[in-house]
Amino acid sequence: MATNRTFTMLKPDSVEKGHIGAILEKINASGFRIVAMKLTQMTKQDAEAFYAIHNERPFFGELVEYMTRGPIVAAILEKENAVEDFRTLIGATNPADAAEGTIRKLYAASIGENAVHGSDSDENAAIEGAFHFSGREMF
Ligand code: UDP
Ligand code: MG
Repeated sequence: MATNRTFTMLKPDSVEKGHIGAILEKINASGFRIVAMKLTQMTKQDAEAFYAIHNERPFFGELVEYMTRGPIVAAILEKENAVEDFRTLIGATNPADAAEGTIRKLYAASIGENAVHGSDSDENAAIEGAFHFSGREMF
Protein backbone atom coordinates (compact mmCIF):
# COMPACT_ATOMS: atom_id res chain seq x y z
CA MET A 1 0.00 0.00 0.00
CA ALA A 2 1.32 3.45 -0.87
CA THR A 3 2.17 5.55 2.17
CA ASN A 4 1.35 9.22 2.26
CA ARG A 5 4.70 10.99 2.66
CA THR A 6 7.61 11.85 0.41
CA PHE A 7 10.82 13.83 0.79
CA THR A 8 12.03 16.65 -1.45
CA MET A 9 14.93 19.03 -1.81
CA LEU A 10 14.82 22.27 -3.81
CA LYS A 11 18.41 21.97 -4.99
CA PRO A 12 21.06 24.74 -4.93
CA ASP A 13 20.25 25.92 -8.49
CA SER A 14 16.60 26.52 -7.50
CA VAL A 15 17.65 28.57 -4.47
CA GLU A 16 20.29 30.53 -6.45
CA LYS A 17 17.80 31.43 -9.20
CA GLY A 18 15.10 32.61 -6.76
CA HIS A 19 12.70 29.78 -7.60
CA ILE A 20 11.82 28.71 -4.04
CA GLY A 21 8.49 30.57 -4.00
CA ALA A 22 7.35 29.43 -7.45
CA ILE A 23 8.20 25.78 -6.77
CA LEU A 24 6.51 25.78 -3.35
CA GLU A 25 3.44 27.36 -4.97
CA LYS A 26 3.23 24.44 -7.43
CA ILE A 27 3.72 21.93 -4.62
CA ASN A 28 0.90 23.51 -2.59
CA ALA A 29 -1.37 23.86 -5.62
CA SER A 30 -0.86 20.14 -6.29
CA GLY A 31 -2.32 19.24 -2.92
CA PHE A 32 0.75 18.45 -0.82
CA ARG A 33 0.81 19.46 2.84
CA ILE A 34 4.18 20.56 4.25
CA VAL A 35 5.05 18.33 7.21
CA ALA A 36 8.59 19.67 7.75
CA MET A 37 10.72 22.27 5.93
CA LYS A 38 14.05 24.08 6.29
CA LEU A 39 16.73 26.04 4.45
CA THR A 40 19.96 24.15 5.04
CA GLN A 41 23.26 23.30 3.38
CA MET A 42 24.60 19.79 2.92
CA THR A 43 28.22 19.05 3.77
CA LYS A 44 30.32 16.88 1.46
CA GLN A 45 29.87 14.04 3.92
CA ASP A 46 26.08 14.57 3.93
CA ALA A 47 25.84 14.53 0.14
CA GLU A 48 28.09 11.49 -0.22
CA ALA A 49 25.91 9.61 2.26
CA PHE A 50 22.59 10.82 0.83
CA TYR A 51 23.59 9.80 -2.72
CA ALA A 52 25.65 6.74 -1.70
CA ILE A 53 23.66 4.57 -4.12
CA HIS A 54 25.26 6.54 -6.99
CA ASN A 55 28.85 6.46 -5.71
CA GLU A 56 30.14 4.31 -8.58
CA ARG A 57 28.52 6.47 -11.26
CA PRO A 58 30.67 8.80 -13.39
CA PHE A 59 28.65 11.85 -12.32
CA PHE A 60 29.02 11.24 -8.57
CA GLY A 61 31.78 13.83 -7.97
CA GLU A 62 29.89 16.53 -9.86
CA LEU A 63 26.68 15.62 -8.07
CA VAL A 64 28.29 16.04 -4.63
CA GLU A 65 29.92 19.33 -5.73
CA TYR A 66 26.57 20.65 -7.02
CA MET A 67 24.50 19.58 -4.02
CA THR A 68 26.92 21.17 -1.53
CA ARG A 69 27.65 24.47 -3.28
CA GLY A 70 24.85 26.42 -1.59
CA PRO A 71 21.71 26.12 0.48
CA ILE A 72 18.82 23.82 -0.35
CA VAL A 73 15.24 23.69 0.90
CA ALA A 74 14.57 20.25 2.42
CA ALA A 75 10.97 19.24 3.07
CA ILE A 76 8.70 16.34 3.91
CA LEU A 77 5.40 16.42 2.03
CA GLU A 78 2.14 14.64 2.69
CA LYS A 79 -0.57 13.61 0.23
CA GLU A 80 -2.33 10.42 -0.73
CA ASN A 81 0.06 8.45 -3.01
CA ALA A 82 2.75 11.05 -2.24
CA VAL A 83 5.84 9.37 -3.72
CA GLU A 84 4.37 8.59 -7.11
CA ASP A 85 2.37 11.81 -7.42
CA PHE A 86 5.40 13.93 -6.52
CA ARG A 87 7.59 12.14 -9.09
CA THR A 88 4.89 12.96 -11.66
CA LEU A 89 4.86 16.61 -10.55
CA ILE A 90 8.66 16.99 -10.86
CA GLY A 91 9.03 15.17 -14.21
CA ALA A 92 11.86 13.13 -15.70
CA THR A 93 15.44 13.37 -14.37
CA ASN A 94 16.53 14.98 -17.64
CA PRO A 95 14.47 18.16 -18.19
CA ALA A 96 14.68 17.54 -21.94
CA ASP A 97 12.49 14.47 -21.35
CA ALA A 98 10.24 16.05 -18.69
CA ALA A 99 6.55 16.58 -19.47
CA GLU A 100 5.17 20.08 -20.04
CA GLY A 101 4.23 21.85 -16.83
CA THR A 102 6.43 19.73 -14.59
CA ILE A 103 8.82 21.42 -12.15
CA ARG A 104 11.90 20.13 -13.97
CA LYS A 105 10.54 21.19 -17.37
CA LEU A 106 9.93 24.68 -16.00
CA TYR A 107 13.00 25.18 -13.80
CA ALA A 108 15.77 22.62 -14.47
CA ALA A 109 18.76 23.53 -16.60
CA SER A 110 20.15 20.06 -17.32
CA ILE A 111 20.17 16.42 -16.22
CA GLY A 112 22.77 17.34 -13.59
CA GLU A 113 21.27 20.62 -12.35
CA ASN A 114 17.67 19.55 -12.28
CA ALA A 115 16.06 21.82 -9.67
CA VAL A 116 14.45 19.29 -7.33
CA HIS A 117 14.78 15.91 -5.67
CA GLY A 118 11.89 13.53 -5.08
CA SER A 119 12.09 10.20 -3.26
CA ASP A 120 11.68 7.17 -5.51
CA SER A 121 9.98 4.79 -3.03
CA ASP A 122 8.12 4.82 0.27
CA GLU A 123 11.13 3.19 1.93
CA ASN A 124 13.53 5.85 0.64
CA ALA A 125 11.08 8.64 1.53
CA ALA A 126 11.22 7.53 5.17
CA ILE A 127 15.03 7.15 5.14
CA GLU A 128 15.60 10.50 3.42
CA GLY A 129 13.13 12.36 5.64
CA ALA A 130 14.84 10.99 8.74
CA PHE A 131 18.24 11.97 7.27
CA HIS A 132 17.23 15.65 7.39
CA PHE A 133 14.63 15.93 10.18
CA SER A 134 14.09 14.76 13.72
CA GLY A 135 10.63 13.77 14.93
CA ARG A 136 10.25 17.13 16.73
CA GLU A 137 10.66 18.98 13.41
CA MET A 138 7.80 17.10 11.73
CA PHE A 139 4.27 18.45 12.01
N1 UDP B 1 22.43 12.94 -12.23
C1 UDP B 1 23.42 13.42 -13.05
N2 UDP B 1 23.67 12.77 -14.24
C2 UDP B 1 22.97 11.66 -14.63
C3 UDP B 1 21.97 11.18 -13.78
C4 UDP B 1 21.71 11.82 -12.58
O1 UDP B 1 24.07 14.41 -12.73
O2 UDP B 1 23.24 11.11 -15.70
C5 UDP B 1 22.14 13.61 -10.95
C6 UDP B 1 20.85 14.45 -11.00
O3 UDP B 1 21.03 15.61 -10.19
C7 UDP B 1 19.85 13.48 -10.41
C8 UDP B 1 20.68 12.80 -9.32
O4 UDP B 1 21.97 12.65 -9.92
O5 UDP B 1 18.71 14.15 -9.91
C9 UDP B 1 20.16 11.46 -8.86
O6 UDP B 1 19.98 10.63 -9.99
P1 UDP B 1 18.69 9.73 -10.16
O7 UDP B 1 18.93 8.81 -11.30
O8 UDP B 1 18.34 9.13 -8.82
O9 UDP B 1 17.56 10.77 -10.62
P2 UDP B 1 16.29 11.35 -9.87
O10 UDP B 1 15.77 10.28 -8.94
O11 UDP B 1 16.75 12.59 -9.12
O12 UDP B 1 15.32 11.69 -10.95
MG1 MG C 1 16.70 9.10 -7.56
